[in-house]
Amino acid sequence: MNTQQKIKTLRDELRQHNYNYYILDNASISDYEFDIKLKELQTLEAQHPEFFDANSPTQRVGGAITKNFKTTVHDFRMYSLDNSYSKEDLLDWESRIKKMVDGVIQYTCELKYDGASMNLTYENGKLIRAVTRGDGVQGDEVTANIKTINTVPLQLTGDYPERFDIRGEIILPIEGFLKMNEERIANDEEPYRNPRNTASGSLKLQDSAEVAKRPLECLLYSIKGNNLNISTQFEGLEKARSWGFKVPKEAKLVDSIAAVLDYVAYWDKERHNLPYEIDGVVVKVNNLYQQDELGFTAKAPRWAMAYKFKAEQVSTVLNEITYQVGRTGAITPVANLQPVELAGTTVKRASLHNADQIAKLDIREGDTVFVEKGGEIIPKIIAVDLAKRPNNSVPTIYATNCPECETLLKRLEGEAKHYCPNYHGCPPQVVGRIQHYISRKALDIEGLGGETVALLVKEGLINDYSDLYELTVQQVVPLERMAEKSAENLINGVEASKKIPFERVLFGLGIRYVGETVAKKLAKHYKSIDALMFASILDLVTVDEIGERIAESVVEFFSSEENKHIVERLKAFGVQLEISADKLANQTDKLKGQTFVVSGVFETVSRNDLKKLIEDNGGKVSSSISSKTSFLIAGDKMGPSKRKKAENLNITILSEDEFLHFLK
Ligand code: AMP
Ligand code: ZN
Repeated sequence: MNTQQKIKTLRDELRQHNYNYYILDNASISDYEFDIKLKELQTLEAQHPEFFDANSPTQRVGGAITKNFKTTVHDFRMYSLDNSYSKEDLLDWESRIKKMVDGVIQYTCELKYDGASMNLTYENGKLIRAVTRGDGVQGDEVTANIKTINTVPLQLTGDYPERFDIRGEIILPIEGFLKMNEERIANDEEPYRNPRNTASGSLKLQDSAEVAKRPLECLLYSIKGNNLNISTQFEGLEKARSWGFKVPKEAKLVDSIAAVLDYVAYWDKERHNLPYEIDGVVVKVNNLYQQDELGFTAKAPRWAMAYKFKAEQVSTVLNEITYQVGRTGAITPVANLQPVELAGTTVKRASLHNADQIAKLDIREGDTVFVEKGGEIIPKIIAVDLAKRPNNSVPTIYATNCPECETLLKRLEGEAKHYCPNYHGCPPQVVGRIQHYISRKALDIEGLGGETVALLVKEGLINDYSDLYELTVQQVVPLERMAEKSAENLINGVEASKKIPFERVLFGLGIRYVGETVAKKLAKHYKSIDALMFASILDLVTVDEIGERIAESVVEFFSSEENKHIVERLKAFGVQLEISADKLANQTDKLKGQTFVVSGVFETVSRNDLKKLIEDNGGKVSSSISSKTSFLIAGDKMGPSKRKKAENLNITILSEDEFLHFLK
């Protein structure tokens, strides 16, 4: 056998033993023998760098140091999951989705592993990159660290697709976690809090050899890609398993929500016997074609639902109620608590939401309160322990003035929150607005972060977002933690933001209630800031999905001389304040007033492109058929009951060709 063959044989053998041990839980060699073979391979690889393979089993020991983790855009967005907490929630979900898809619905039930999500990309059977979820659109590339995790296959076996993404959760099994802590305590180090945070904290350690020491695992649950030849979620899990991934066997295919509830009840009890922590169950529509029909909301798939186990509760003393001012001036009361351990973290603060909430629960300083932590990061107070209320307790009087600028607070009719009306002078509002303006979904100004904005405002260099465009390198360099290079990046980032399209600038202005979607709608309808500025409330409410509350807020924003002045300045600096000419060229009003439902599989254009075409031409897309539907565009494989419903309601059914022809 020549050296190259020898290396290959060793790699294959080690891979197989690794698989047997970590995935099948069935050791086929002693640790000692494994180490001997690994050393042998290491030696050969060191002598023959020409046979280097980034996915060799020797790469698992780590050693690579990463200083800066590269930001990488996901090929397929990583959505969050909607949560449910009761039988009713699940039944509601079922009736919602039954209106949108045809035929029998089966569900895959899976455990909801409590760790950090990870997207792995494989090409020709080799792991090519591993990226954290990040904000769902882009995450950090942590490949070197992930390669050290033994349950992540570096080389797949069997009949895998040429290229695909697979998603999973990086978890730390309880036993391994306890062992790590034993060692830390023995070394006089602070023990880790809980497995979940330790797992997610491991992903971005700079030294991959350090990650290799931690007994992390990766449990897989979803495959994404094109032409995968997989038709159900459950089949996907089985295939992933056959390619060498660790896919827990607890997943179950069921036929009804009743069976889902049985699964939930079983695992709520049984979870304490699992080797790792779970915080609930994830239910997914099994059929991928049905999943596709259901699609996504802005935040989560409509075809999946997390069921969260009941949250843990503790009681503690509320020391003080303080108030926070947000970017829009909204005031949030905060409970400052006697620190207490809850679900593995120390809780010191809880949100009290608004004045009504405080009044409803009659929450007072000095009270003993029950605190609960659900899926949310910020815990909430659910009740007061009246038996423990001190004798001298006094009812809470809600703040009358802004804690930051002392302006008298206001509360509008029908609104839950108080707000500080000192729009142009209240520091957290001024800073918050600029931070919003530069954020990724708005002007996305690279080289400028939230802290720098606060510093620039504090130093008096900027007072609103239009001032950003007059900043110079000379002004910025003297600031704390700035250098020539970073100052230049900042100025270049500001310059580049002049290319950001109108709809995002509109979102960035930070008009109350004008979020991403509303900004898009307004931009499309009015096409320029000048037209929008002159719109009346009556005119605004005629725009699809724009209600009175939004309309009033827009009018109020542009009634301020100061805001008008800022907008004029933005215009003078060359920021995009109207829809660009080429975009305009593709937009018409041809479908104005018409509502479309798009269903099935299409040939010349994808379903998403069809939807875009409808919207670009002034039409509206809806997900289910009703008497308001004007047209149903039917593709291949559309379910018979949808067609029937459309026929009963006398809705015109168009084929893809007919629709495209109609548009022309
Ligand atoms: P959340 O973070 O509450 O929005 O829940 C979504 C997250 O649950 C996903 O990003 C995954 O990291 C995680 N998760 C854990 N187990 C599963 C599973 N079986 N299927 C899908 N997501 C899961
Ligand atoms: Zn204020």
